[in-house]
Amino acid sequence: MRIPDAAVLRAPHLRGARALFTTRDGGVGEAPFDTLNLALHVGDDEGTVLQNRARIAQLMGAPLAAVEQVHSARVATLPPQGELPLVQADALVTRRRDTALMIMVADCLPVLLVDEQTPVIGAAHAGRRGLLDGILENTVRAMEEQGAVPGRIRASIGPSICGRCYEVPQEMQDDAAARLPASSSRTGWGTPALDLRAGAVQALLAAGLVREGILAEAPCTREDPRFFSYRRAARTGRIAGVIRLQ
Ligand SMILES: [Zn+2]
Repeated sequence: MRIPDAAVLRAPHLRGARALFTTRDGGVGEAPFDTLNLALHVGDDEGTVLQNRARIAQLMGAPLAAVEQVHSARVATLPPQGELPLVQADALVTRRRDTALMIMVADCLPVLLVDEQTPVIGAAHAGRRGLLDGILENTVRAMEEQGAVPGRIRASIGPSICGRCYEVPQEMQDDAAARLPASSSRTGWGTPALDLRAGAVQALLAAGLVREGILAEAPCTREDPRFFSYRRAARTGRIAGVIRLQ
């Protein structure tokens, strides 16, 4: 079985890479993980998750590299050859063409990046904690170490919770705003909230990207039932951002 084309959101903005964001569609899982959950350790059947990942690998035409995501600011750069050992990190970077990078989320931001000229790619999981601790700046720096020039990097922020849905206590908003003022927002019902996408754009600009290189338009995971959302249902699966050099 192949994943239907309509079940993924492509990111053609990321020239030089095959990049996409998955939805819930196209997998073999059952509720509440229906159907394309890609994360182990969320309570889904392991065989089901591995089947789903195999479908993504088939779609990308390459094996997937992933990390144990822990809301850190650590970036793992793939070794020149062989598999990446399972490490705790929240972003991946590589110049290799034989492996696709996968990062998993359910409301947090999946951020895919490419410098077509070097070429080098990156994939980052940016939640509130990681974003404030510098996961995106660190990802850009790791790409620079592989030869990237920040002003050439194109980034795409995928399906994630929007600034009108991500309600947080006032104190948490103040803490985030002290570091990334753009992240401050209000919910649709008037309470303190965080716009992590706006915060991510600010962090990427600070890291040297240009505004035209950043695409931050994607559906809201909490509002759009095509995606898993932790805020909508704590027991749920994970979608993924996946990228491979062409
Ligand atoms: Zn929303």
